[in-house]
Amino acid sequence: MGSVDLAGRVALVTGATSGIGAATATLFAERGTHVLVAGRDADRGENLVGDIRSRGGKADFVAADLRSASAVRQLAREATELGGGRVDILVNNAGIFPFGPTDATAESDVNTVYDLNVKAPFYLVAELAPGMAERGNGAIVNVTTQVAYYGAAGMALYGSSKAALHQLSQAWVAEYGPRGVRVNTVSPGPTRTRGTAAMGDALEALAAEAPAGRPAEAEEIAEAIAYLVGDSASFVQGALLTVDGGRTAV
Ligand code: NAP
Repeated sequence: MGSVDLAGRVALVTGATSGIGAATATLFAERGTHVLVAGRDADRGENLVGDIRSRGGKADFVAADLRSASAVRQLAREATELGGGRVDILVNNAGIFPFGPTDATAESDVNTVYDLNVKAPFYLVAELAPGMAERGNGAIVNVTTQVAYYGAAGMALYGSSKAALHQLSQAWVAEYGPRGVRVNTVSPGPTRTRGTAAMGDALEALAAEAPAGRPAEAEEIAEAIAYLVGDSASFVQGALLTVDGGRTAV
């Protein structure tokens, strides 16, 4: 069952009904974590929980649409209750990534992207980090994207939301780091998921820009997240772990 350094912890993974979040929840559970699988789709959420349990892991599904602050706060409360009074690990992974010209972007898209990609992590940390700080122990990973770190036509809205999330990581290192909460960032490159399935050849084309020359599998991103929340990373705070096949290095 892999490394045991996540045993006994309670982890909330947002966007865990699909892609990178599902792979992360699966890996955490293999390492002994009680995983709280958050998402909207109850069928996919319960399926994943069933899979994890059938392999001896511990998991619960929590349904939440994270576009409103009240729903985000409610998720934090439910997660804490399911976790027996605590959440030790938070992975802010849920996100949407609509691409397109700035001048053709609907106001509703701007609002939704910022509600989900920026405000939901903000309110989740507001709810959960104080408890971690009180216990002197916690780990948070924010999932950004390579396009937060360079200019790409058509990605202004998405890239800027994730750049904001990265800045939140850094601010939270300053705010909660002194009280034992480690906050880090994982920046994936193009990854095969349910969410990118519709991109077809465009995903391959984007991936071809990187030295690795191929899209990632969700499990490859999950490994980086699991490293950062585990004891192997006990002195790692404020790191930006790029898992982008080398794209932002060149
Ligand atoms: P995905 O397959 O599209 O899954 C997105 C997840 O977010 C799903 O679990 C979905 O839940 C959840 N979600 C979407 N809208 C939500 C809402 N309003 N309320 C609550 N949950 C919501 O995504 P992915 O490709 O694995 O990406 C995961 C993260 O990695 C995202 O933040 C993305 O920006 C980032 N990322 C992805 C790539 C890539 O190439 N895949 C690259 C760089 C960064 P339901 O399905 O249950 O609604």
